[in-house]
Amino acid sequence: YERVSSSTSTAPSAHGTGGEGGGRGVRLSVVVPVFNEQDVIRITHQRLCSVLAALGEPYEIVYVDDGSQDETPAILDEMAAAHPDVRVIHFSRNFGHQAAISAGIDHARGDAVVVIDADLQDPPELIPRLVERWQAGYDVVYARRMERQGESWFKRSTARWFYRGLRRLADIPIPLDTGDFRLMDRRVCAVLRALPEHHRFLRGLVAWAGFRQIAVEYVREPRLAGTSKYSLRKMLRLAADAVTSFSYRPLRWPLYAGAGWTVATLALMAGEAWRMSFAHHGISGASLLITFSLLGDGVLLLSVGVLGQYVARIHDEARRRPLYIVREVVGGRPSAQEGNR
Ligand code: UDP
Ligand code: MG
Repeated sequence: YERVSSSTSTAPSAHGTGGEGGGRGVRLSVVVPVFNEQDVIRITHQRLCSVLAALGEPYEIVYVDDGSQDETPAILDEMAAAHPDVRVIHFSRNFGHQAAISAGIDHARGDAVVVIDADLQDPPELIPRLVERWQAGYDVVYARRMERQGESWFKRSTARWFYRGLRRLADIPIPLDTGDFRLMDRRVCAVLRALPEHHRFLRGLVAWAGFRQIAVEYVREPRLAGTSKYSLRKMLRLAADAVTSFSYRPLRWPLYAGAGWTVATLALMAGEAWRMSFAHHGISGASLLITFSLLGDGVLLLSVGVLGQYVARIHDEARRRPLYIVREVVGGRPSAQEGNR
C-alpha cells in the first residue's frame, strides 16, 4: 500500500498535469480484455487510436489476450509491432474477463487507467469525457449504461435483475447498470493491485475502495461483430463471485429456512399426534408428511449448495494460485516488473 499512501498525501484537488509518477510519462493507459475478437479487434484499435491521438496526451494501450483460440493473438502482435505504445499480454489460457482486466491494471503504467471492452459496445469516443472528469478531480469515473442496444431480452433482463439484486444483497452500494468501462486514477489501481483476492468482481472492489467517484452516462451500443464471449456459465460465475464477495446474506438463508422448516414440521407433528389420539384417525396425513420431508430435503440440499459456494471460494483463496498466468508480453517499452499474479 506504500504507493497509495504516499501519493494520497500529495494529492491536489485536481489531478496534476505533470505526469510524474506513473510510468515514464504515460498519462493514460487503456486496458482492453480480448477473447476471440478477430472480427472486431482491428476496428477497435483504429477507433481507440484516433480518439487517443486527439486527446494529445501520451498514452499506451494494453491488450490482454485472454487465451484466444482464433486469429486474435497474431493480430494483436501485429498491432504491437506497428505501434510502440501498444503492449499485448498473452495469457497461457482463458482465465476470464475479470482476470484479464486485473492483469491489464497490473501492467498499466499510466496516471489513469481506462478499462474498455474490445467489442465496441463501450464507445471509445466517451473516453475524453471520462478524462475530463478525472482532470476535474475525480478518482473513479464509471460509465453507466442508460440503454442497451442490440442485446437480447434475456441478457437485458438478467443484467437488470442482477444489478438490482446485488444492490439489495451487497454490504456496500455498487452502482447500478455499470460494467467495467471506467477510468481509474493510479491510486485506485494501486489499491486494486494490492488486493489479494481471487474471485474478483472488480466493479464491487472499485466501489469498496472508495475515493471520489462519479458516473458518466452513455448508451451501450450493439456489439460490432462476433458473438458474446460471456457464456451463461461465465455469467453465472460472475454473479456468484459478486454475491459471495460482497454479501454474507445468503449464508443466513439456510438458517432461516431451517428454522421455518423445523417450526412447520413440529406443528405438523403436533397436529398429527392430536388427530391420532383424540380424533382416532389412524395414520392419515402420511402423504402430507412425505411431501413435507421431500421439501425438506430440497431445502437442505439448497442450503448445502449455498455453503459450498462460499467454501469453494475459501478453498481457492487458501490455495493461493495465481490469478492468471502470462505466457508472453509483446511490444511496448521495457518495464521493471512484469509477471504473474
Ligand atoms: N472477454 C474476455 N475473457 C472472457 C470473456 C470475455 O477477456 O472469458 C472479453 C471480451 O473479448 C470483451 C469483454 O471481455 O472484450 C466483454 O465480453 P463480451 O462482449 O463477450 O460480453 P458481453 O458484452 O456480451 O457481456
Ligand atoms: Mg460485449
